[in-house]
Amino acid sequence: MRKIGTKCVQGGYTPENGEPRQIPIIQSTTFKYNTSEDMGKLFDLEESGYFYTRLANPTSDYVAKKICEMEGGTAAMLTSSGMAANFLAVFNICSCGDHLVSSSAIYGGTFNLFAVTLKRMGIDVTFVSPRATKEELSAAFKPNTKLLFGETISNPSLDVLDIEKFSEVAHEHGIPLVIDNTFPTPVNCRPFEWGADIVTHATTKYMDGHGSAVGGAIVDSGKFDWTKYADKYPGLCTPDESYHGLTYTESFGIEGAYITKAVVQLMRDLGVTPAPMNAFLLNLGLESLHVRMKRHCENALAVAKFLESNKNVAWVNYPGLESSKDKDLVNKYLKDGTCGVVSFGIVGGREAALKFMKSLKLIAIETHVADARSCCLHPATSTHRQLSDKELIECGVSPDLIRMSIGLEDADDLIADIEQAF
Ligand SMILES: *Cc1c(COP(=O)(O)O)cnc(C)c1O
Repeated sequence: MRKIGTKCVQGGYTPENGEPRQIPIIQSTTFKYNTSEDMGKLFDLEESGYFYTRLANPTSDYVAKKICEMEGGTAAMLTSSGMAANFLAVFNICSCGDHLVSSSAIYGGTFNLFAVTLKRMGIDVTFVSPRATKEELSAAFKPNTKLLFGETISNPSLDVLDIEKFSEVAHEHGIPLVIDNTFPTPVNCRPFEWGADIVTHATTKYMDGHGSAVGGAIVDSGKFDWTKYADKYPGLCTPDESYHGLTYTESFGIEGAYITKAVVQLMRDLGVTPAPMNAFLLNLGLESLHVRMKRHCENALAVAKFLESNKNVAWVNYPGLESSKDKDLVNKYLKDGTCGVVSFGIVGGREAALKFMKSLKLIAIETHVADARSCCLHPATSTHRQLSDKELIECGVSPDLIRMSIGLEDADDLIADIEQAF
């Protein structure tokens, strides 16, 4: 089996004699057929092929195939954003009256999707600590629980998830574990190797890596046997009337049913499709992902160590540090590196944080993480500004917290920038 770096560069697309070396951008909404019968077969899913880019497009599919190979899955799809990926991943197997269990240490947008929007659709959620014991996790399950969700390294709290423990509990209850693997990327962690069943990504972050295209991806490990729990997953295991009574698990097997359903049913009806041009840009990012992740991690470790030794800094949280509270989990799941995001508190609290950030010259103030250019954010006065100091502390964001995304510049220059800002 080829290694991850080779998959980053060459996965997903193998040109034939005389074909373009780079993935072609198929900038076309529609595809031509000789007869209506030919096209009809596609509509009935009797044959595979392209007919309308809202459902599928060759450029996006080449890139989805690359991400699938990188994660070690059996099927994958791209979406228009990371939020769309998480929504489809859940909505593909949950409907009104269902329930899911999620780690509470997840991206704010996903938290809101689960806690507010899915609730309005009749899908209920129970949040659990990423550090919950097996017993505590099990206690959150109900007869109508359809999936367990978590992030490998959470954004922004940087908690590392015990994927194997979560997958064991999920499987004891006969449901899949869905992991958002955005922060480590498959270069640093492949959750399927630890028992996860479905992986999602905000490709917007390191995968694109240049802050140029919002996007998402969903990958299926092909290992979860939906047919063993057919009562729980009728959408996958009983006939779909919108496709003449076809049953996904029968027609596409357990390795293809989940992604096929998400494409032909949810993409068809919801249309959260990536633009072919964005898929092309994403692929350019993927070609150097393994090289960039290494540099992001080296730079972030250098900055985290500098911060840890600086008298102006009250505390530092970086999973790659020896002092990390998650050291054991990092040694197990993230041996090759974690991510480029560091959070820290500054002596002097909120006021000092604002003054410090204003004084930075290279590291820009942005609501973004995980691209080539270093940036930082003060959640208490931006993303979380409606909360009181007491509420901030309750949700794990202290008023002095600065989140810094370390880019690909020279670490010495970043450290010098931070030093002059102090
Ligand atoms: C950014 C992010 C998302 C959402 O992705 P968008 O492309 O902004 O929709 C989801 N999960 C994680 C972990 C993220 O960092």
